[in-house]
Amino acid sequence: MIVMTPDATEEQVAAVRVKLEAVGVHVLVMPGELTTAIGAIGDPVGVGELGLEGMSGVDRVVPISRPYKLASSELAHHEPTSFMVGSHLVGGGETFTLIAGPCTVESREQTLAVARVVRDAGASMLRGGAFKPRTSPFAFKGLGLEALEILAEARAETGLPIVTELLDAAHADLLHEHADVVQIGARNMQNYALLEVAGKLGKPVLLKRGLSSSLDELLMAADYVLKEGNERVILCERGIRTYETATRFTLDLGAVPWLKIHTHLPVVVDPSHASGDRRLVEPLSRAAAAVGADGIIVEVHEDPEQALCDGPQALYASDFAAYAKNIAAHAALCGRRVA
Ligand code: PEP
Ligand code: MN
Repeated sequence: MIVMTPDATEEQVAAVRVKLEAVGVHVLVMPGELTTAIGAIGDPVGVGELGLEGMSGVDRVVPISRPYKLASSELAHHEPTSFMVGSHLVGGGETFTLIAGPCTVESREQTLAVARVVRDAGASMLRGGAFKPRTSPFAFKGLGLEALEILAEARAETGLPIVTELLDAAHADLLHEHADVVQIGARNMQNYALLEVAGKLGKPVLLKRGLSSSLDELLMAADYVLKEGNERVILCERGIRTYETATRFTLDLGAVPWLKIHTHLPVVVDPSHASGDRRLVEPLSRAAAAVGADGIIVEVHEDPEQALCDGPQALYASDFAAYAKNIAAHAALCGRRVA
């Protein structure tokens, strides 16, 4: 929509019309009491690039359609997207996906022990980082290929699909071989080249919201994956930076119902990275279920005090069965079963 200034002349309105029609945009001129508005019906990106703001008599250009296309529930999709990961149905409104496991694969024993605990408690998938994005370059960065092999062993033993992060395009082949769901971390949500690589892998992608990203930006990032022909994208709200410092990040629970309206993609919540504090993980998980999330991705460790990464937010493995039971009950209140 192009809004003209109150003193815009007919010639100036006509000049805008000519410019729009020259690129094949359908034009609707709407004279008002004070100002004339011009509806431009067509490709919004193309219209945005015409430089109409600089034309005489133009006050402002107001985009009406949403900037994300493939992720939007406005366009092609009206039904929520759902898909299988192994034997687990993700999205679609009837299931609740419980992804649990250590922040990082530290050893075979540690990973297999947690994998057994979360499997026995009914988790849907196992999470575990092999390549870790660390804020400091001197922190533990994960075991790499060795970790992927340990995760593969955990999958073979427990039957749980593996969720693990793609940190670098150079690891794409390794992830293709070992991951069931490719995680894109918050710090890489706007790494567009990596999103395209993830899209091309042909595996479901769990896309985390950037630390300081808006929901529009999250959905445009999802478009990068979707445009590669990969429909299987799971969005993850994991907390954002705000002025509040009491929690590690601020969990934006409102994002969940907002995303449910504006996108057809499944949405999960990460209460672990959002809070940074295991005491908050269960209440936030209950809230996530209540607000309509399609699932949770949560960190669990046998001995969090010894964890090499994110110990303070990891649930004790010994508490996990009770936690899972509680979350399943809350999901059931919203008509979902953990699957
Ligand atoms: C993670 O899930 O291991 C992780 C690093 O999370 P985030 O990218 O959300 O910080
Ligand atoms: Mn972590």
